Amino acid sequence: MESQVFFNESAYSHINGVPVLCRYQIEELSERIIKHVIPDALSIPIPCDIENLMETHFNLTLDYQNLQPDGAILGETVFKKGVRDIYRVEETLKQDQILVREGTVLVDDSLSNNMETRLRFTLAHELGHWILHQRFYGTTENRACRSYRRQHIYTSHHQVKSPVEWTEWQADTFASAILVPRPALRQSLRTFLAQNGLSWPKLSDFSDNKNRENYNDFLKIIAKEYGVSKETARIRMNKLCGIHFPN
Ligand SMILES: [Zn+2]
Repeated sequence: MESQVFFNESAYSHINGVPVLCRYQIEELSERIIKHVIPDALSIPIPCDIENLMETHFNLTLDYQNLQPDGAILGETVFKKGVRDIYRVEETLKQDQILVREGTVLVDDSLSNNMETRLRFTLAHELGHWILHQRFYGTTENRACRSYRRQHIYTSHHQVKSPVEWTEWQADTFASAILVPRPALRQSLRTFLAQNGLSWPKLSDFSDNKNRENYNDFLKIIAKEYGVSKETARIRMNKLCGIHFPN
């Protein structure tokens, strides 16, 4: 499935090669994709099979390699065929080169060990770049988008300044939306409130320690049900329900 089916980039205005998109447009895009691929995931919590989504529906190739000796780069989406540096573990991290086709998502091997939520978020982020940033990364000199281990997660418009930062904000917003779909999250919240005899104003009143505990339990459930980190669950609730739950 070509990504243009879901997102026709040429229909959007661009600034410095980056499509102008608000969060709601990115939410809607992710919901169009989910509706097409696994419609049930819009109403019930189903962890998105992100690898399958990328490979089967977007014809991307996932390639797990050691991208840097210190693991600093987590992922990179290849928009133009070319040669990439990798490091061979079996030869004490000797540098080597591989030829990669357009549509390859290189993923650092370290993520395949006990870093399930980080891996899923990184993959969803790279899928966001692939769908949204063909013009920015495919036709300009910005030929590589890379996710760094220490990269800031873009959660607010205020921190975004450069075109690259805008692409990062968009890819992060897409990743959160595809992993924790907006309608399903609201349904999860309704279920949690009903099962625990709680109301929304009560749950979100953090002056009461019991509510904090309940909210914390809710975030843990969301993290488990959708295969994301608790931090992603917290950010998602913040964006969709305006809740600033203390760290
Ligand atoms: Zn990125």
